[in-house]
Amino acid sequence: MDTSAPLTLFNSLTRRAEPFQPVRPGEARVYSCGPTVYNYPHIGNMRAYVFADVLGRTLSFKGYKLTHVINITDVGHLTDDADQGEDKMERMAAAQKQSIWDIAEHYKQAYWADVRALNIRQPAEWTVATDYVPQMIAFAEGIAAQHCYELESGLYFDVSTVADYGRLARAATEEGEGRIEQVEGKRHAADFAIWRKTPPGETRQMEWDSPWGKGAPGWHLECSVMSGAVLGFPFDIHTGGIDHREIHHPNEIAQNQAHCCTNGLDDAANSGAKIWMHNNFLVERSGKMSKSSGEFLRLQLLIDKGYHPLAYRLLCLQAHYRSELEFSWEGLGAALTRLKRLLIAVEQLKARIPSVPAAAVLLPVPGRNFANHLARFDAAVSDDLNTPQALTVLEEVAALKKVDPAEKLAALVALDAVLGLDLLNLTRADLRLRPKSAIVTEAEIEATLAARKDARAAKDFARSDALRDELAAKGVEVMDGDPLGWDWKLG
Ligand code: AMP
Ligand code: ZN
Repeated sequence: MDTSAPLTLFNSLTRRAEPFQPVRPGEARVYSCGPTVYNYPHIGNMRAYVFADVLGRTLSFKGYKLTHVINITDVGHLTDDADQGEDKMERMAAAQKQSIWDIAEHYKQAYWADVRALNIRQPAEWTVATDYVPQMIAFAEGIAAQHCYELESGLYFDVSTVADYGRLARAATEEGEGRIEQVEGKRHAADFAIWRKTPPGETRQMEWDSPWGKGAPGWHLECSVMSGAVLGFPFDIHTGGIDHREIHHPNEIAQNQAHCCTNGLDDAANSGAKIWMHNNFLVERSGKMSKSSGEFLRLQLLIDKGYHPLAYRLLCLQAHYRSELEFSWEGLGAALTRLKRLLIAVEQLKARIPSVPAAAVLLPVPGRNFANHLARFDAAVSDDLNTPQALTVLEEVAALKKVDPAEKLAALVALDAVLGLDLLNLTRADLRLRPKSAIVTEAEIEATLAARKDARAAKDFARSDALRDELAAKGVEVMDGDPLGWDWKLG
């Protein structure tokens, strides 16, 4: 398949879309800032990984050999990005009266469950911060003499020692600095701790010996070290949510610059990654989504309410990753209907193919009838991951008439390799999740719906309404207006 449209990606560092030119020909090496595993991820967090997954899938689609690394932060991320507050992990462990290690394991598994449910591909490597502490200490030692100073509370990075500190950040410096709390003895407001000493007389659950005394690494140090250790500087692309553009990533870049200069790496290596990409936020009507506000929007909550997780993935794909996306239950419902339409098309095709292969590679190569659509799809995803446009092309292919069904299925599956909606394996029945709070079985719902259909056919509307009310009382809402015959959902 021809996937030769030029790939351009928006680089937050240069603030423009740039042609992708890999450091190593034919390869793409990507690092994504992963979750801090002190709590369940909310669906906004998961938007960041759907974005990183689409990026990785696009690079694979374009023929690059992809190495994707996502980290798991299990130490060092403070309650305030800007160097103050408690360690998020320590605080949760204290609140739940559990060891940090147990907390980390529990929430890492919960995160991975969401990753699987959203059909996010496994990266080449998950790096866990606590596995890299010796390398973090070595990295810090390497830059300490020229770029750091020691205070009672830790080893601090002096941001004036690197060129053009903070060029990635968008927030006005004043506002940025306003957020950074002062620590006695800090030379500049933006200086940050790369090693945090355990205060005298205290013992932390997670602490390591270092040349600066017992303590723990700073969060920014972790990502510099893990990305450099696994991918090597410079690598191609570093991703994260836009909040990281303001403090976390500028600090990573500063450390990478210091490390690369100290180690005689050339200019191109200075920022660590050539391209820095950031997804915008998923927001609620009331503002930015957060783990502490109101109803905690976990993927599991969506599932409990009867929405298939891939409907959420589709909702993400409907917006460009650099646009803010507002979450609403109506929007999620519409995305579910859209997904259902695609699956109906796939199921109709499958019914026309004598033996449907279990794996995409066994499908025929889509021929000339599809060339125009494939080219437009390629152009869309190559244009800084324009997934809204790509989805439309996918739907156009699904609607094509008078084409060979096996080839059409092959075309849909080839495009879905980028969008990741799992169209080949998912069935329409999979989409109909029983809401957790529904107090009837699926069979009972079906039986009542069948009786209601009969009543309506016989124009016995009183009985039809009574049956609808009966279901409503059990938490099931009947959706008559749905053109696709979506029979019920949680009321
Ligand atoms: P954290 O676990 O807090 O480090 O966040 C994990 C990822 O989710 C980071 O890349 C954040 O930038 C990103 N993120 C946090 N909140 C949102 C949101 N509401 N929408 C999209 N991405 C988010
Ligand atoms: Zn990071």
